[in-house]
Amino acid sequence: MSGAALQSPRELLAARGELGPDVIAVRCGGRIVDLHTGVPGDSEVRPIRRGDPDGLEIIRHSTSHVMAQAVQRLFPGTQVTIGPAIEHGFYYDFSPPEGVKFTDQDLGRIEDEMRRLMKADLPFRREVLPREDVRALFGKMGERFKLELVDAIPEGREISIYRQGDAADPGGDWLDLCSGPHVPSTRHLGVVKLTSVAGAYWRGDERNPMLQRIYGTAFATEADLKAHLQMLEEARARDHRKLGKELELFLFDESAPAMPFFLPRGAFVYNQLVAYVRDLYQEHGYQEVITPQIFHPSLFETSGHLQNYRENMYFPATSEDLAGTPAEGAEPVHVQKPMNCPSHCLIFGQRRRSYRELPWRIADFGRLHRFERGGVVHGLTRVRSFSQDDAHIFCAPEQLRDEALAFNRLLFEVYRAFGFEHLEVKLALRPERRVGDDALWDTAENTLRGVLQESGLTFEELPGEGAFYGPKVEFHVKDAIGRSWQLGTIQLDYALPERFDLEFVGADGKSRRPVMLHRAILGSLERFLGIYIEHVAGKFPVWLAPEQVILVTVSENQVEYARRVQSELRAAGLRVELDDGPDKLGAKIRSARLRRVPFVGVIGEKEAQAGAIAPKGSDGKDLGAMPVAEFQSRLLALARPPRAGAAGG
Ligand SMILES: [Zn+2]
Ligand SMILES: [Zn+2]
Repeated sequence: MSGAALQSPRELLAARGELGPDVIAVRCGGRIVDLHTGVPGDSEVRPIRRGDPDGLEIIRHSTSHVMAQAVQRLFPGTQVTIGPAIEHGFYYDFSPPEGVKFTDQDLGRIEDEMRRLMKADLPFRREVLPREDVRALFGKMGERFKLELVDAIPEGREISIYRQGDAADPGGDWLDLCSGPHVPSTRHLGVVKLTSVAGAYWRGDERNPMLQRIYGTAFATEADLKAHLQMLEEARARDHRKLGKELELFLFDESAPAMPFFLPRGAFVYNQLVAYVRDLYQEHGYQEVITPQIFHPSLFETSGHLQNYRENMYFPATSEDLAGTPAEGAEPVHVQKPMNCPSHCLIFGQRRRSYRELPWRIADFGRLHRFERGGVVHGLTRVRSFSQDDAHIFCAPEQLRDEALAFNRLLFEVYRAFGFEHLEVKLALRPERRVGDDALWDTAENTLRGVLQESGLTFEELPGEGAFYGPKVEFHVKDAIGRSWQLGTIQLDYALPERFDLEFVGADGKSRRPVMLHRAILGSLERFLGIYIEHVAGKFPVWLAPEQVILVTVSENQVEYARRVQSELRAAGLRVELDDGPDKLGAKIRSARLRRVPFVGVIGEKEAQAGAIAPKGSDGKDLGAMPVAEFQSRLLALARPPRAGAAGG
């Protein structure tokens, strides 16, 4: 620690002659600090300029303050809550006065007001104040949400506010409770675009008041903004909730909120995913088990879920359970599983196991139920009922490295098969609250770190973000339009084997404790499907598509022949539909394309005479007429799930 007196980076840079007009913050140690916030006077500071990637988040968060100022000017009586920068932009949650509802039309007006404020070059100023002064300030302004936030700040923590505007001009000054960082003045902000209005519960809890959230984005340049807006438009067109309806893949119903119903086409794709993973399991030495849904609470008490995961669990009851009036706060009689791990520990511990049985890899596609608040569920990507490509590996500590390496290889193979080429890897390290001593954590973290290095991966370390039972690796993929999604994970666990008192007999005849790896590649299959539908814009590849070809006839003269082609292709194991209806050819092709079927097989008189077919790809590309047998063998090659080392696909 430095004993030097605090100085603002503004002063430090000015003294060195480095305070250029485009400097908006500094990098100081590992932190990004704005020009207002004191750092030890002997700190090493490196300027961040407007337009640097590091500056974007500051610009966005500062823009959210300006938006809140604009909203309060245009809609007096509106109360403010929070306004963070998020990936691709920012939002601010407002509580407008009774009867005021922000509309898309309001966004333009708010943007105009924001541009006026930005042009006025209003300086941001940071003030650190005693808690009571801050309470008095927001109390006087009638900002009750802010008061709640102030009260939630732990005792002893510094409380700061940021002001922007002209202090001399009454009403021209705007302030917010905030720890920063912020740009020096509003002229440093970039181009802004407000994108949407949505409802959001205060603190994400549906028991709290409903607020109105305005989303926006800001970029340093007009060109960056344009590229982003194009991406958003593309994302809307690919929205899996919309495609799920149009392509009849799944639906949601009030009778089971946030639990998807898969329709035949969606269930087909879902089952193909499972079959694909099952095949890989066969090859990679996994065995599958099937375990119950509803348990006596003791198993989940042993695992610690009942103590640590309770608010996400369902507690089913029988009529017998309900007949006795349970006392207030009584323990549940049954629990529904939110995870498979406890069952797998139970199976491992059922009999004496020898070191020769390890590593023991146990997979389970069992359905899981986790209660998620109404405010956070979203389409297929966050649901309350799902299953995972979940497996647990029980092994000796010295086998960890090889197991983790093998897992990484398998994961890459799977991601490549789905066309996810760009991967981000994060290593989450020991959190403050944890089980096990430091030596154990050192070994665990070094093992995972070494495995990632050996796999040739660059990765980011996230101190403090590991699970309480061990460090974990998270795998994030980039989809076709550049968005990042977390899919797979591998987690090292010393705690569960301990809690379940699991043992195996070592080569020396002595009892030893196994280590457990929790691992998933696709993660929740529901969530994966949601992400994948958007990745491929609903166009499933041949091996996953519910229908691989639709045959369309030019006139009814070819129906006989088309039926023969259909049964021939079906006999070869292909999924073929026939549209022999009265519509015109163009209409039939359009409707097949709307269903995103990979191939349309056109059959006219010429094809019928020649024993041929004229296929078109889903992109409309003509493949030219070819013998049915040739089309069949091309399709069969595409119908095989892509495998490592296999050509084509
Ligand atoms: Zn702020
Ligand atoms: Zn697990």
